Amino acid sequence: MNDGTKIPKNHRDAALAYAALGIKVFRVRRSKAPYANCPRCDKQSSIYTPHRPEECQCQVPTCHGFWAATTDPALIHKWWTEEPDANIGAPCKLNGWAVLDIDPRHGGHMALSVLEQRIGCLPGTVMQLTGGGGMHMLYSSPAVSLPGTLGPGLDVKHNGYILLAPSVHGSGLKYQWSGHGRFLQPDVTWPAALTPMARAAA
Ligand SMILES: [Zn+2]
Ligand SMILES: [Zn+2]
Repeated sequence: MNDGTKIPKNHRDAALAYAALGIKVFRVRRSKAPYANCPRCDKQSSIYTPHRPEECQCQVPTCHGFWAATTDPALIHKWWTEEPDANIGAPCKLNGWAVLDIDPRHGGHMALSVLEQRIGCLPGTVMQLTGGGGMHMLYSSPAVSLPGTLGPGLDVKHNGYILLAPSVHGSGLKYQWSGHGRFLQPDVTWPAALTPMARAAA
């Protein structure tokens, strides 16, 4: 049995470890303020040329937030050498993930228990403890688009991104993989009962 990859404590080494597993990462400021786009990608600029982020040709490696995510070790090395404490972001859909984000501060545990009473227990999968007392359940991405939320405190991260361990949460505590801090790629697909079609039929 594959028991996963031990993720280093140092942010740069951790980002490199994810990239070595084929996971695209990008750096996220502790304040979450995005890095600036170049003038051609900046909608406020006089030389902005309209384009979709996924089709950007500018080659500036910080444009368009998570669309800048990479597995290039040289770039990752440079980013985290410049900012050793930067958090590690990973776009979900681009990495083949759909993530259920359970935030107890907004009633996520309650919403999850109501949901599970209705559709049964969600299949077990790779989990990450967020530093804020919440939890991420990582599934492999379905072929359909998913809604952004399933209830109060129960968000779906699919088009967006999540932070990866050992990123530091706003609370000051670190994100952590459940299971002794080892990371495994999720191989369980997003539950069919939580796709929009199944929900419409329910
Ligand atoms: Zn650009
Ligand atoms: Zn662009």
